Amino acid sequence: MSTVAEIVLDKVTKKFADGTVAVDSFNLDIADQEFVILVGPSGCGKSTTLNMIAGLEDISDGELRIDGKRVNEVAPRDRDIAMVFQSYALYPHMTVRENIGFPLKLAKVDKATMKQKVDEAAQILDLTPYLDRKPGALSGGQRQRVAMGRAIVRSPKAFLMDEPLSNLDAKLRVQMRTSISRIQKRLGTTTVYVTHDQTEAMTLGDRIVIMRAGLIQQVGSPQELYERPVNLFVAGFIGSPSMNFVPGTIAENAVDTVLGKIPLTERIRRSLEGHKDVPRDVIIGIRPEAFEDASLVDGGRGEGVTFTSQVDIVESMGSEKFAYFSLENAHVDSEHLAEIERDTGSEEIGAAQLVTELDARSPVREGRALEVWFDPDSIHVFEPHSGVNLT
Ligand code: ATP
Repeated sequence: MSTVAEIVLDKVTKKFADGTVAVDSFNLDIADQEFVILVGPSGCGKSTTLNMIAGLEDISDGELRIDGKRVNEVAPRDRDIAMVFQSYALYPHMTVRENIGFPLKLAKVDKATMKQKVDEAAQILDLTPYLDRKPGALSGGQRQRVAMGRAIVRSPKAFLMDEPLSNLDAKLRVQMRTSISRIQKRLGTTTVYVTHDQTEAMTLGDRIVIMRAGLIQQVGSPQELYERPVNLFVAGFIGSPSMNFVPGTIAENAVDTVLGKIPLTERIRRSLEGHKDVPRDVIIGIRPEAFEDASLVDGGRGEGVTFTSQVDIVESMGSEKFAYFSLENAHVDSEHLAEIERDTGSEEIGAAQLVTELDARSPVREGRALEVWFDPDSIHVFEPHSGVNLT
């Protein structure tokens, strides 16, 4: 059903009339059949980028190419791209069949072809039993699938999706996520998908583009972003619960933190040596899942760092437990941290509360002390002002 579509954004910039630079020199090559996710906090420029690809927003500077051709000046309807929005605007008086077939009717496609295309789309979307119903008699997820059906029947070069699942409840969102991924793979249509939800991004895309304030922070596979975030912003944005951050001071072959002295492992020492001017004062990042209940760690796990803290809150998730604890003894210069937060766009740095993700077997209790264990090789070391990950 699909045709080849490679989308290239070459230093694409959007400057609005009031001077707001919503997207700043955005460079991205999207391969044919690729599923790319644009993710970032509200206002980072995701929708503006998508709208420029769709042609709904003019490009102020740079070039947009589809299959090697400049399309900056091409009208939206001539770009052969289908957009799926969060509000699906179906026609209430039309049946599902008529709603899905509507773009083909507009394009004056003959009846037999129209029937065949609608049947095909309905089959892919599991909508065959509902073709004669009106939208009012459908669930939210089914309505969203009808909206996707309208995009699919056109066999466009690319799908652009702007938060298509945000009006659905949590359970349906997860179901629709897998359907979208399956449909995209089956059709092989190049897709650009916008979301502010990092979990959605991590589960859907082949490649994720993380944006902040109109700028790309990092492009990578979910695994790369999780394991090797380039800076504090990405480190804090990817992963749930978020990475813990604590200030640290490098002294000899260790870093002093409120969690104790963390030895710098061979790997980390080598990474730090690869950078010029590593500051003494750094930010240490540790993922909640790197922390373990020391009482459950066997001796064969090698050298670890342990610290003890009083647990404030325990959330039991069934397969794991989240234990939140505060660092009451942390003599942290809050003004300094506020400055770091501003510079790096990371809101978590000064958080006095840390979180551990523990095995469900952990006997951790609220109000009790917990001895926490972690592998010193699991830490990330960040430059505090640029936010660059030095490890
Ligand atoms: P959200 O997740 O909230 O939809 P977003 O990442 O999609 O956010 P955009 O809608 O692309 O962000 O907006 C990016 C920036 O451009 C924001 O700062 C926004 O206020 C600004 N902006 C959007 N439209 C206009 C406009 N017409 N004029 C001026 N500024 C605008």
